Amino acid sequence: MKTIDDFNFENKKALIRVDFNVPLDSAFNVSDTNRIQAAKPTIIKVLEDGGSAVLMSHLGRPKGQKNPDLSLTHICTTVSDVIGVQVKFVGDSVGETAEQAVAALQPGEVLLLENLRFYAEEEKGDSDFANKLSKLGDIYVNDAFGTAHRAHASTTIVADFFSENKCFGYLLAKEIAAIEKVMQTGEKPVLAILGGAKVSSKITIIENILDKVDHLIIGGGMTYTFVKAQGGAVGDSICEDDKMDLALSILKQAEAKGVQVHLPVDVIAANDFDNNAATQTAAVDKIPDGWQGLDAGPRTLEIFREVILKSKTILWNGPVGVFEMENFAKGTIAVGNAIDEATATGAFSLVGGGDSVAAVKQFGFADKVSYVSTGGGAMLESLEGKTLPGIAAIIAS
Ligand code: AMP
Repeated sequence: MKTIDDFNFENKKALIRVDFNVPLDSAFNVSDTNRIQAAKPTIIKVLEDGGSAVLMSHLGRPKGQKNPDLSLTHICTTVSDVIGVQVKFVGDSVGETAEQAVAALQPGEVLLLENLRFYAEEEKGDSDFANKLSKLGDIYVNDAFGTAHRAHASTTIVADFFSENKCFGYLLAKEIAAIEKVMQTGEKPVLAILGGAKVSSKITIIENILDKVDHLIIGGGMTYTFVKAQGGAVGDSICEDDKMDLALSILKQAEAKGVQVHLPVDVIAANDFDNNAATQTAAVDKIPDGWQGLDAGPRTLEIFREVILKSKTILWNGPVGVFEMENFAKGTIAVGNAIDEATATGAFSLVGGGDSVAAVKQFGFADKVSYVSTGGGAMLESLEGKTLPGIAAIIAS
C-alpha cells in the first residue's frame, strides 16, 4: 500500500483529491471545518517537502450545472485559515485556465480548483475528463475516504493516468488501517455492535462480519425483527416481517460459526413515537400492543456493557435506540460509555457509518474511541466486504 510517505514532493505538484464537501451556512460560511482539518496533514507534508498542492473536491450536488451557491470560492478563506497558507483559487477544474494556474504554482503554494461536480463528467467517471484532471499534477494523492466508494473521475479513473505516481494521503491510509484492524488483524475477542433502524440495510454487513467477530450485539430497531422471528411479541415496534426468515438464518449462521449473538432482553417501550410519550420497561418478547420499543432496557445495558468490557477490538455501527429523542438516548450513551471504558483499558474501537458517528459526536465520545470514520457510505461498503474503487485504483499499477 503506497502512502504519501513513500514520496518526496520537492519541486513536485501533488494533485490531491480531498473531501471538502463541507456544510455552508446561509452566508456561505463553512459551519464545520472537520473535513478540512482532516486533510491538513497530507497538504502540510507536500508543502514541507518543498512541493505544491493542487486541491480538488466536490461540494454539494450541482449535477453538472455551474451553480454559484456551490462554488468552492466560498471555502477558500477557511481552507487558508485551517492550513495556515494563503490558498489560491481558480474558477475551473480542468482546461487551459486551470492548467495555467497550476503552471504558475510555486513550491509551498496551494491552489484550490472549482467544484468538480460542475462537470457532469465527474460523476460519470468520464475518462477524457479524468485525463484532463491528470494534467494538473505530477503525483496523484487520494485523501477523500468519503467518496472512495464512488468510481468518479477524480476519485478513481484519474489514477489510471499516473502509473506508479499515485498514493493514499494520511487520512485515507488511516481509514484503511482502522478497517483492517477490525476486519483482519484485530486482537480477540472481536465485537461488532450493530444497531440502527432496519435489518434490511445491514444484512450484507452482518453476513460479512460473521466471519470476523467473536461477539455480535444487535440493537436498535433491528432487534424486533429478530425477536418476532423467534416467536416474541413486539407490540407496535418497528419490524420487517419479510425479513424474519433472514433473521433466523443469520442466527443459525452465527451459531455455526461460533459467534455469540447478544440481543436485548428488555426495552424501554413507549406508547407513541414521541419524546414525551408514556414509557414502561418491558421484556423484549412481551411488548404489549400499542407500545413500541425505542431504547435498550436496563438489564440489556448491563449485558452489553459486560460484553463490551471483555472485548479487545470493537466496531460500532448504528445506535441502539432512537437517540435523536432525549428520552430514548440513554442506551446509546451507555454503549458509548462502555466503549470509552474498554478503549481506556486497551481495546481498539472503531465507530463508523452514518448515525453512530453522529451519536458519538453529539454525546462527546469522539475523542474517547480509537477512531471515528469520516466516511458514511464508504465505511458501510467496506464493512460489507466490498473493495472500494478509489482504493483499488491506487493499489493497481
Ligand atoms: P441507521 O441509519 O440504519 O444506522 O439507523 C439509524 C436510525 O435508527 C436512527 O435514526 C435511530 O433513531 C433509529 N432507531 C434506532 N432504534 C430504533 C427503534 N427502536 N425504533 C425505531 N428507530 C430506531
